[in-house]
Amino acid sequence: MSFVRVALDVPLSTLFDYFLAENISASVGQRVLVTFGRQQVVGVVMECRSETAVPAERIKAVVQVLHDVPPVPADMLKLLRFCSDYYQHPLGMTVLSALPTRMRSSEPITLKRALTYALSASGRALDLELLPRRKVVQHRILRALQADALSGNQVRGISATAMTTLKLLLESGWVEECAEAKPLTTPSFNNAHSLTAEQQHAVDAVNQAKAYACFLLHGITGSGKTEVYVHLMHEVLQRGGQVLLLVPEINLTPQLEHYFQSRFPDVELVSLHSGLNEGERTQNWLRAQSGQAHIVLGTRLSVFTPLPQLALIIVDEEHDASFKQQDGLRYSARDVAIFRAKQRMVPIVLGSATPSLESYYNAQSGRYTLLRLSQRANAQAQLPSVRCLNISNAILPEGISPAMLGALGERLQRREQSLIFINRRGHAPVLMCTACGWLSGCPNCAGKLVLHLKDRRLRCHHCGHQQRVPHTCPSCGNADLQPVGIGTQRVEAALQEHFPDARILRVDRDSTRNKGTWNAMRKQIEENAVDILVGTQMLAKGHDFPNLTLVGVLNPDSALYSSDFRASEKLFAQLSQVAGRAGRADKPGEVLVQTAFPEHPLFRALIAHDYETWARTMLAEREQAGFPPFVYQVLLRAEGKQESDVFAFMHKAHAAAKAQGMDVEVYGVVPAAMPRRANHFLAQLLVQSATRKSLQQFLRAWKPLLDELPAQKLRWSLDVDPLEF
Ligand code: ADP
Ligand code: ZN
Ligand code: ZN
Repeated sequence: MSFVRVALDVPLSTLFDYFLAENISASVGQRVLVTFGRQQVVGVVMECRSETAVPAERIKAVVQVLHDVPPVPADMLKLLRFCSDYYQHPLGMTVLSALPTRMRSSEPITLKRALTYALSASGRALDLELLPRRKVVQHRILRALQADALSGNQVRGISATAMTTLKLLLESGWVEECAEAKPLTTPSFNNAHSLTAEQQHAVDAVNQAKAYACFLLHGITGSGKTEVYVHLMHEVLQRGGQVLLLVPEINLTPQLEHYFQSRFPDVELVSLHSGLNEGERTQNWLRAQSGQAHIVLGTRLSVFTPLPQLALIIVDEEHDASFKQQDGLRYSARDVAIFRAKQRMVPIVLGSATPSLESYYNAQSGRYTLLRLSQRANAQAQLPSVRCLNISNAILPEGISPAMLGALGERLQRREQSLIFINRRGHAPVLMCTACGWLSGCPNCAGKLVLHLKDRRLRCHHCGHQQRVPHTCPSCGNADLQPVGIGTQRVEAALQEHFPDARILRVDRDSTRNKGTWNAMRKQIEENAVDILVGTQMLAKGHDFPNLTLVGVLNPDSALYSSDFRASEKLFAQLSQVAGRAGRADKPGEVLVQTAFPEHPLFRALIAHDYETWARTMLAEREQAGFPPFVYQVLLRAEGKQESDVFAFMHKAHAAAKAQGMDVEVYGVVPAAMPRRANHFLAQLLVQSATRKSLQQFLRAWKPLLDELPAQKLRWSLDVDPLEF
């Protein structure tokens, strides 16, 4: 008899044995339908065996082997096994969570064939001269189709909105779908620039790597890292290889997809991110697995895409925190990508203007090869000049200094754009009673309610609780309640009052909540219909606004003295990134930072555009304090409605950790930085070690003990290499 060991989506660390009826066979990686409890569920075959430890009367048969799509390849299963072990997450849940949702059900999946688009008879009879000129994209598509039929990807390469226009053309009957795929010629490549010497050096170094090698591409903003990626991709595509390009969540826009497609018009590119519907995600995954898609562009989850011809991995903005998943399998896609590159023996490139200290340290110690782009690619585009505005003795009722207002006024006169960057949305972080000192706290959390004046509400940014703004103090009845601190809405209002004629646009999570709003806003900015942008970090990343010459940073100081040891690393990255928005084209940019600590090393480094000195200072501090990357950490978190339950569990976990007597440092149980959230109490326990290996050994011993602890009414989790505390 033959048996299979199956991974199922259940919170147990074991696999489950089933037998195969005589006329059925299954191979590793295949999806199977099995009975689990009273349900039928889909699992993945991890092993095939000729025996089992399960007694004959208890073992059940595989209900059905699913043949609709090819098995999950062995290298992917190996990667998932590694992740399950490394991040201490049940294997079955790890494997199933990596699959697109469709593949977790037994509904048959059919791989859609790639379509080709051609002009219909009525389309061929059209006189393009008679169509309205302003429909530029329509003209471009039709003109391209007059020359030749196009694949979907080629259409996508025409413009970021080409697919929407194509739909209209199909409806009008001028264009039709043909089933036969367009035969591929040698992939063409739009070579936009000749590389600078530094870019060429970076490209050559990576191209010479014949097996695994990890490169850290440290390039200042505007130095042309993207161009390096494109040339590396070209090399790989010529050899028929596949490229995996990971980007942070917020950067993955249709513009980016269009950009890469336009550089490789004949190559099939698929994107994978949480914004796709399930059908699209499954199709894209299968096209990558079949080897048809040669470029996979995606957010962290795409690191688990099967790629038979994988030849290169690129992680753009490698320092970005969105590569770390914050629930379930708490993986770092960057770190998994590095493991995957090793496993598949292919080079990997980590790119950033402000590398994470972990990566920079690895480059210093020689584990990664450092490649530097120290100049802007476009010689005319100067780096912005950065200055601090000392506000230590100033009283700024609306949070904006006179010097900042003056600089904004100059830009308005010159008809240039400005960006005011502030890391808090809403009107003000808290409402205070001037008589008794009452503060607007959240009833469910340890945090404060943020004042949103637009709809006169107080909102908790942690649990979502909201209530109307009280007319009088709930504590003493005084009617004089004042906003304390500033948020985007307050800045917007203050600026509008000061510059009544200025066109001001606020960009934050509140103003862009509706789908598509951000795209419309971006268009407004590009068309110069905006004078002043007020925004949060949403605006910091990867957008090119050529007419933007001033960036003002309002209140960066709290990060300097945060209890989170990564806060200043994040601040430096963020400010470098916003600073990079200023003066991208021929107009020089200026960055003004309002701070009470203008002499702080962080601002000095920012002014000097000197990441390296800053990074070295930070690394020295981290080494002295015993923080990553000099130690490896795991954080146990627990939460529950009863504080005593939470702490009882945590103290037992602590005792179990101590009892191991292993080469790790076990800290005390402490309340989380946000000790109460949505009516739950949160506590945490940190364990760290000088080596990854000893921490992993410890975890393998500790996790089974944690699983044994009574934990009714609690939720707990392990976070290996945590980014947030
Ligand atoms: P980064 O990603 O490093 O911030 P980008 O790749 O966006 O930089 O490049 C910045 C600008 O420089 C872009 O407008 C790009 O087209 C241009 N550029 C890149 N490489 C070159 C080059 N070799 N010669 C001229 N311009 C270049
Ligand atoms: Zn009061
Ligand atoms: Zn709350």
